[in-house]
Amino acid sequence: MRSIRLAALAVTAIPLLAFAQQDLSKVEIKTTALRDGTHMLTGAGGNMVASAGSDGVFIIDDQFAPLAGKIRAAVAKLSNKPLRFVVNTHWHGDHTGGNEDMGKAGAVIVAHDNVRKRMSVGQLLRGSMVAPAAAAALPVVTFASNLSLHLNGDSVRVHHVANAHTDGDALVKFERANVLHMGDVYFNGLYPFIDAESGGSIDGLLAAVDSGLALSDATTIVVPGHGPASNRAELAAYGAMLKGHRDRISALKADGKSLAEVIAAKPTASTDEALGKAFIKPHQLVTSIYETL
Ligand SMILES: [Zn+2]
Repeated sequence: MRSIRLAALAVTAIPLLAFAQQDLSKVEIKTTALRDGTHMLTGAGGNMVASAGSDGVFIIDDQFAPLAGKIRAAVAKLSNKPLRFVVNTHWHGDHTGGNEDMGKAGAVIVAHDNVRKRMSVGQLLRGSMVAPAAAAALPVVTFASNLSLHLNGDSVRVHHVANAHTDGDALVKFERANVLHMGDVYFNGLYPFIDAESGGSIDGLLAAVDSGLALSDATTIVVPGHGPASNRAELAAYGAMLKGHRDRISALKADGKSLAEVIAAKPTASTDEALGKAFIKPHQLVTSIYETL
């Protein structure tokens, strides 16, 4: 099942998994200390945050299945205590691919109700099917709106944000460390993917950015789902950029312009050069905004 799922992901989710098209056997997991026992881990796929301390280790997201062994090795370097929890920010395979391995190793997987629902059955992702996840990969603890973990001297608040990147997104805030993982609500340095087929929407994404701003202050380390570690000011600029594009596209749509006409009008031109080349292209961003307004 794992190989089927990966094959489906590799063939189908082209922009989403541009990150995955590299040879995963050559990917190394890099660990960067953040603050108060928290670390950012990167390899291929979504950014991870690990917390290590006297109660053990837990991680937010776990990238792709072939990297699971390397992720566990990286986590083992932070602490000789067990990996106890995995929190998934949403269901996409570049954030949950390691779940089966982590679950079998004894970690309790935690995510929003809709993450479990979507992983349990086949999903349409950018027009192609992703197979149901293995039972061991499914979240064991799920929540509808909020959940807190009290570990390693910190209170970790997991906040659901509705219909943003998907319908199962969570923002995760370490209150003492003052670290906020935004999941794929925040793509830092590149246009975001809004997964309308999974319930994502531009207005939900903008509301989720506002939630992230409300959870942060000038010294918060803001970890995006993709791109380098960031801060509140950059998150605010990202939200303002998307709001401007949303408002231009909304006005054109209200004027009766078709999607093709709106794409041709280049409503995102001011940032296409900077943000529209790495992953989601300008016409894809315009389409996802137009269609979810
Ligand atoms: Zn995603």
